[in-house]
Amino acid sequence: MIHASLPELRRALDARQISSVELATLFLDRIDALDPQLNAFVTVDCEGALAAARAADERIAAGQAAPLTGIPLAHKDVFCTEGVLTTCGSKMLSNFVSPYDAHVVGLLKAAGAVSLGKTNMDEFAMGSSNESSFYGAVKNPWKLDRVPGGSSGGSAAAVAARLAPIATGTDTGGSVRQPAAFCGITGIKPTYGLVSRYGMIAYASSLDQGGAFGASAEDCALLLSAMAGFDPRDSTSLERPAEDYAAALAAPAGARPLEGLRIGLPREFFAEGMADDVRTAVNAAIEQYRALGATTVEVSLPNARLAIPAYYVIAPAECSSNLSRFDGVRYGHRAAEYGDLADMYGKTRAEGFGAEVKRRILVGTYVLSHGYYDAYYLQAQRLRRLIAQDFQAALQHCDIIAGPTTPTTAWALGQMADDPVQMYLSDIFTLAINLAGLPGLSQPCGLGSDGLPVGLQLIGDYFGESRLLNAAHRFQQITDWHTRRPAIAG
Ligand code: GLN
Repeated sequence: MIHASLPELRRALDARQISSVELATLFLDRIDALDPQLNAFVTVDCEGALAAARAADERIAAGQAAPLTGIPLAHKDVFCTEGVLTTCGSKMLSNFVSPYDAHVVGLLKAAGAVSLGKTNMDEFAMGSSNESSFYGAVKNPWKLDRVPGGSSGGSAAAVAARLAPIATGTDTGGSVRQPAAFCGITGIKPTYGLVSRYGMIAYASSLDQGGAFGASAEDCALLLSAMAGFDPRDSTSLERPAEDYAAALAAPAGARPLEGLRIGLPREFFAEGMADDVRTAVNAAIEQYRALGATTVEVSLPNARLAIPAYYVIAPAECSSNLSRFDGVRYGHRAAEYGDLADMYGKTRAEGFGAEVKRRILVGTYVLSHGYYDAYYLQAQRLRRLIAQDFQAALQHCDIIAGPTTPTTAWALGQMADDPVQMYLSDIFTLAINLAGLPGLSQPCGLGSDGLPVGLQLIGDYFGESRLLNAAHRFQQITDWHTRRPAIAG
């Protein structure tokens, strides 16, 4: 059951081969046994999980099960959960019990999914290694001395080690795709606006988007179908008909199921910056796509290299504004001793935020300040427009775009801890997609020379989720990279 796919779990639950309570207990026991080594969870909610599982069992007995009823999952600790600690990986919120559910959390509850708890993450989702968490680094299940990627590293590690079959995440500049790649699982970041940001603690609001982790594209499709949908409480939520991403995968596949699919290979992604073992695995995967009937065409994203400077101006600018709400007045940490109000703000924020968050707030405040706004922020916005236009031009010649998710496999814990810029550079292949608001998916496509997973990134046009998931699913029907598990998963 630990390694079962979501459709297999569904069948087992519906056939009463296992109850939801038994299933939740199975995963809770695994978290108990393995999480001390991984540190993937900040909060394990045994009581809540068992209560939800009992309710799910009743619903199944009544013949009213939805696709996720009774299925255990984990939420990134960026999502507000009513009555459950919601820390965002920060000391600032280390005492914050949310009074309400995020939209995504509410939808999954209503679907009857069983939340096992909240997963560890980079503080306020800022990072690419999950080392900036107040709750300590998450370990990569494939090699415990490696990073799992960030910022949704806890969710990715939990799914890879089978501490949960599926998990939610968020992706501002790669935080679903990059940890999925590093942990050897599948992750999808949808089109901006598809998943409500209500109750998802904001980092950079114009880039943040909720996403899904699973072992396979099919599991991601089932989770995403339940997460997506219009929400009037998020002003950027898009009103469009709901899609059943999983049903679309069930269509019978011929010998060449991707016949007619045109895959664009951006020249700039393949030119330099990719480690040899990543390149080998990515090229082999593209060959498999050709075997499935897809054709490939070279495309160009001339401004993609500017994604790093543009992103690392825009994201800090938005974060400096978003994080101003953490002032010790209404919720979260407050300094124990202070003089006047200004001193209280200062001490609270000095104590509550870690180094990376402070660095971003400083950078963000600087680029928005009088005299620098035009030089930095406005310029970055212009670059953002150019980057988005590049993708639209490229997508004239292809249906999806493929390339690496990351330049290398997972690096060693501590390796970049003192070099933030080096870490920012590792986001080179993921940031542009958020700047353009496009959907992106990462799927495991091989192992590097160190035995660690390599991710293949697929990028689609707006609302191309179904196409991405279908392509990844067809690939997974003829390959077994997505079924490989780290030794710790047993
Ligand atoms: N690594 C990027 C950053 O630190 C992306 C993080 C994310 O997507 N939340 O901003």
